[in-house]
Amino acid sequence: MGVHGHTDGSRPWAWAENDLEGLMANVVGAKQEEVALMNGLTVNLHLLMLSFYKPTPKRHKILLEDRAFPSDHYAVGSQIRLRGFSPDDSMLLMKPRQGEEILRTEDILSVIEREGDSVALVMFSAVQYYTGQFFDMEAITKAGHAKGCLVGFDCAHAVGNVELRLHDWNVDFACWCSYKYVNSGAGGLAGAFIHEKHMDTVRPALVGWWGHELKTRFLMNNELKLQSGVNGFRLSNQPILLVCPLQASLEIFNKTSMKDLRTKSVLLTGYLEYLLKHYYSKDESNPDKAYIEIISPSEPQERGCQLSICFSLPIRHVFKELEKRGVACDMREPNVLRVAPVPLYNTFTDVYRFITVLGSALSNCNKLQRS
Ligand SMILES: *Cc1c(COP(=O)(O)O)cnc(C)c1O
Repeated sequence: MGVHGHTDGSRPWAWAENDLEGLMANVVGAKQEEVALMNGLTVNLHLLMLSFYKPTPKRHKILLEDRAFPSDHYAVGSQIRLRGFSPDDSMLLMKPRQGEEILRTEDILSVIEREGDSVALVMFSAVQYYTGQFFDMEAITKAGHAKGCLVGFDCAHAVGNVELRLHDWNVDFACWCSYKYVNSGAGGLAGAFIHEKHMDTVRPALVGWWGHELKTRFLMNNELKLQSGVNGFRLSNQPILLVCPLQASLEIFNKTSMKDLRTKSVLLTGYLEYLLKHYYSKDESNPDKAYIEIISPSEPQERGCQLSICFSLPIRHVFKELEKRGVACDMREPNVLRVAPVPLYNTFTDVYRFITVLGSALSNCNKLQRS
């Protein structure tokens, strides 16, 4: 089995990931040949930037969010250094306006318009992990292209959460992990997208045998026949133990569509937002009452399923009181609780229960605070 499993049986290990690309492509709005499943997210981000970030003295900057996910921030900084530039000059960090939490699309577009001539790469997240903001990827891509920049997205928090149209939006490249909304298990196999327009022009900087075309890959003659597009970026043979859970998950996603999941998601998160505001908004007539503030965008099309909530009480206390009551949310430093009802497996009843549990957690925090 250890030998024959690679090529025999109903699901040969050696090309097991190829069966998944179509399923994954449906989830991200891509063509099958634009998607590869390989490595981890940060590895893919590096591999893609090695080919898409080609700085010149005039055009050397990478535009990203000021509060990008740390791994992306470090990856971008190290790519800049690798090319002999300095992050101080070449990392263009986009901040929200004073006193605001989310980036306004108009501001993103005007930075691109203003600075675009010196920007080699616009590298944004699709859904911001901290605020939950779903960026207008199509508008950002269009604005970047108009100034001659390449545009890539980290879709870690968007895949399986919002409807993506990577192909139609003309995104140059994208990458994502599969262990957030795609449920493949911690450290699961990550994804990469390269638009088909780059199929014959963009080459991998680093090459391995899995980038070689399948037909002659095992002839072992060291005459590279590189697959075109993202498939040429594959380095190693696939970890079958990571392929299997991803397959199981993607088969479930493909029983429905991101359009239908999103329709439920908008209602589910809208319900959560409504109840949160109804019960736990700031009450001017009752200054002792604990309250919350939602920093995620209030427009459903500008967010995914996640609401990021700030509290008038210390976040650690709230988090602990929720945990005691059997509710596991996600706390992010410095001051946010991320609540993400997921349409695939969360119900409206779950949302309602969360609201009642939150009420009891808050009043206990309040008591502790005052005692
Ligand atoms: C989760 C996440 C990561 C994690 O990267 P790994 O390489 O999978 O550890 C990176 N970037 C973003 C935006 C994320 O949300």
